[in-house]
Amino acid sequence: MIRLHDTLAREKRDFVPADPRRITMYVCGPTVYGRAHIGNARPAVVFDTLARLVRHEFGEDSLVYARNVTDVDDKIIAAAEAEGVDPSVITERFERFYLEDMRALGVRDPDIAPHATQEIAPMVALIVRLIERGNAYEAEGHVLFSVTSDPDYGVLSRRDRDAMIAGARVEVAPYKRDPADFVLWKPSAEGVIGWDSPWGRGRPGWHVECSAMIAAHLGETIDIHGGGLDLIFPHHENEIAQSRCAHGGAPLARYWVHNGFVDMGAEKMSKSLGNIVTPEELLKSHRGETLRLALLSAHYRQPLPWTEALVAQAKATLDGLYRRAGEAEGGEVDCGVLDALRDDLNTPLALSRLAQLDGGSLRASSNLLGLMQSSAEEWFQGEGDVSDIEMRIAERAEAKKNRDFAAADRIRDELKAEGIVLEDGPGGTTWRRE
Ligand SMILES: [Zn+2]
Repeated sequence: MIRLHDTLAREKRDFVPADPRRITMYVCGPTVYGRAHIGNARPAVVFDTLARLVRHEFGEDSLVYARNVTDVDDKIIAAAEAEGVDPSVITERFERFYLEDMRALGVRDPDIAPHATQEIAPMVALIVRLIERGNAYEAEGHVLFSVTSDPDYGVLSRRDRDAMIAGARVEVAPYKRDPADFVLWKPSAEGVIGWDSPWGRGRPGWHVECSAMIAAHLGETIDIHGGGLDLIFPHHENEIAQSRCAHGGAPLARYWVHNGFVDMGAEKMSKSLGNIVTPEELLKSHRGETLRLALLSAHYRQPLPWTEALVAQAKATLDGLYRRAGEAEGGEVDCGVLDALRDDLNTPLALSRLAQLDGGSLRASSNLLGLMQSSAEEWFQGEGDVSDIEMRIAERAEAKKNRDFAAADRIRDELKAEGIVLEDGPGGTTWRRE
């Protein structure tokens, strides 16, 4: 039996899906206007691991996992305007990067990846229904959800009204009946991406996108809804209100699962704070599996401080696992690892259990966590090269320090001839294979 901490119930509950032959899970996906950072990768890795566990327990075909792509948004519009291109140029580019980065971390693509721009009709239909039921109203080309029409609003985040208004950082707009009301539809100016609707040409708000796509692809009530802690309020609170009001009170999800932040120093890693590291940069000098293990090394609900030492430790752990597993195959997943994962995805406990295993059982148990996807030979291949490359980078740094630029350039050219490209940055020199 899997047990999951349910944010709505504030406790761990036995996971009993409505239909074990068709378990439904939805995770809020990326808004595609820039490169993902390692904090963005955490939910992707956590819910990929949960998906692997659910499939192990209920059968490979038991789960339908949907993760949306937000491809219409003010930040996307701003990025497109800055480059002078169509928004689709921005969204296609950064969706491709996102998928490449996540695949490198061993994250399997979801079964369904609905795109907001492809699902405008179900969003409009949901908004129409909310207006009919008295839960939404039109004002100056906008449609707003009326929070006072829903007595259960706030059930997930359990915030009081003032905290909700402050937390949502809502605009106090003259057309709002209540400052906490949120946008379902907004007008698009001439030349800005938009669709015709009963309220004029415009585009959907972010929250309504998830409610509409969940209903269209998975059903009115799903088993698991996931995302980062920062989405509890306002995003998930608003999803719950929209879906429940549109669907005659049917709950949106039976289990709400939220992962904690990746921290840099004392702060949450976030684009707005400018303290991010991206999988793109990290993958130049680390393997995806190393980063995946680092992300799984803390319990998913706990904060995860991201440090170089964490990554080095993850690499050393994987070296040890590959050495002990050797080329063994065909083992069974260890009961201790399984019990740890079944208990609210306790990956630190599962990893410490791996340290006691070897051979086929170690490999099968690691595979369940999305780890040890290579052979030992592949894993250790090129290790000698890496220390050699780093030694030559150090020699080059020394040469530069001594103002022997001819020697420094020679080392760089030699490495280039071997397909190793050096990049000098403020934090030193990194390298990647061409
Ligand atoms: Zn969402």
